Amino acid sequence: MNFAKSAPIPAKLTSDMRLKHRNTFGLEAVAEFAYDITAAEQLPTLLKSLAEKKVPWRVLGGGSNVLLPAQLSGATLLMNILGQEIIPSGDSDADGDGEDKNKENTLLAVGAGVNWHALVAWTLEHDLPGLENLALIPGTVGAAPIQNIGAYGVEVGQYIDSIKAFDTVHHAFVTLSQTACQFGYRDSLFKQHPHRFIVTQVIFKIPQQWQARTHYAELATQFSDSHSQPTAQQICDAVCSIRTKKLPDPQIIGNAGSFFQNPIVTQAQYASLLSQYPNLVSYPDKLGARKLAAGWLIDQCGFKGLRIGAVGVYEKQALVLVNYGGASAVDILNLAKAIQEKVRQQYGVQLAIEPNIF
Ligand SMILES: Cc1cc2nc3c(=O)[nH]c(=O)nc-3n(C[C@H](O)[C@H](O)[C@H](O)COP(=O)(O)OP(=O)(O)OC[C@H]3O[C@@H](n4cnc5c(N)ncnc54)[C@H](O)[C@@H]3O)c2cc1C
Repeated sequence: MNFAKSAPIPAKLTSDMRLKHRNTFGLEAVAEFAYDITAAEQLPTLLKSLAEKKVPWRVLGGGSNVLLPAQLSGATLLMNILGQEIIPSGDSDADGDGEDKNKENTLLAVGAGVNWHALVAWTLEHDLPGLENLALIPGTVGAAPIQNIGAYGVEVGQYIDSIKAFDTVHHAFVTLSQTACQFGYRDSLFKQHPHRFIVTQVIFKIPQQWQARTHYAELATQFSDSHSQPTAQQICDAVCSIRTKKLPDPQIIGNAGSFFQNPIVTQAQYASLLSQYPNLVSYPDKLGARKLAAGWLIDQCGFKGLRIGAVGVYEKQALVLVNYGGASAVDILNLAKAIQEKVRQQYGVQLAIEPNIF
């Protein structure tokens, strides 16, 4: 791991760095000062110096959930801390609660800059199944807890034991337990307090008793003919295959995955909408609430496949806004606003934007 005890090498600085290839929308953006963060210990000195000079800063992982402006003034911290290792049994009280968690789980310590899908593949190679439903989500491990990434019936928060982060308010490293992270649907403590914590390492807990999770409709259909439980690798392959068919490859068409969150409404609102729109697509949520399929709402408003200049709504999935080449963040936001307005007029529902607008 890159958590060396000796004095760290200062983060490498590059001025005027182009970020077109570090954001999946493929937006032309230039970082005034880009710092290559390869060790957690680089952060205290760097942040102190930025604070003293009143230089604004932000953290960038893989750039798969951001909308970048043409110019990012101040400092952009490129999260590149690598390393992953299994925490030996008996040394597994990572969050300091006095409990040895290796009895039921295998604990993994992973650097925030590790590529998410590479981690999923690594866990399967090491016979540590559990994360397979989250295969092929772009981005870094450090960003995964920020919006509590989720797909095919699983959210990453379920597999997080604790998080090591630099708290920029108290200027100290902290270890946050799973409970302290306050994971919710596309939500966490980090999302609630943007800019406060810089995640440097994630400690995963992978249950030793593995259970296949194929209840999500598209996965259930994929395995409906098989009589035995699929393996984790088969689930991973199925998820990759479904995702590849459904979502645009950012290497070919710029996008940030789902552009809007699925809105959560009360049961009363849901019942009223359902009486007007019997085909309304929705999912159960916590008691007294219902999650509406934002993609369905957008599709019904006639946006699916629409193209305006360099931006558009993906033809196979209305939740995904795309950059056909040469679009700016403003172009994308203008289209997003038009969609929000129409959905609000027609259904009385406010769609929230998922990517982080820098
Ligand atoms: C094709 C496609 C499919 C996708 N599918 C899904 C999906 O199924 N489910 C899902 O949940 N998401 C999905 N996403 C969204 C995205 O992949 C995830 O949100 C991912 O976790 C973002 O990782 P990143 O490293 O690219 O973060 P970035 O986009 O670089 O950053 C996102 C936010 O996290 C902050 N951040 C990043 N790293 C750190 C850190 N170390 N410490 C503190 N803050 C940090 C940034 O400041 C920013 O606010 C998809 C995106 C694409 C392009």
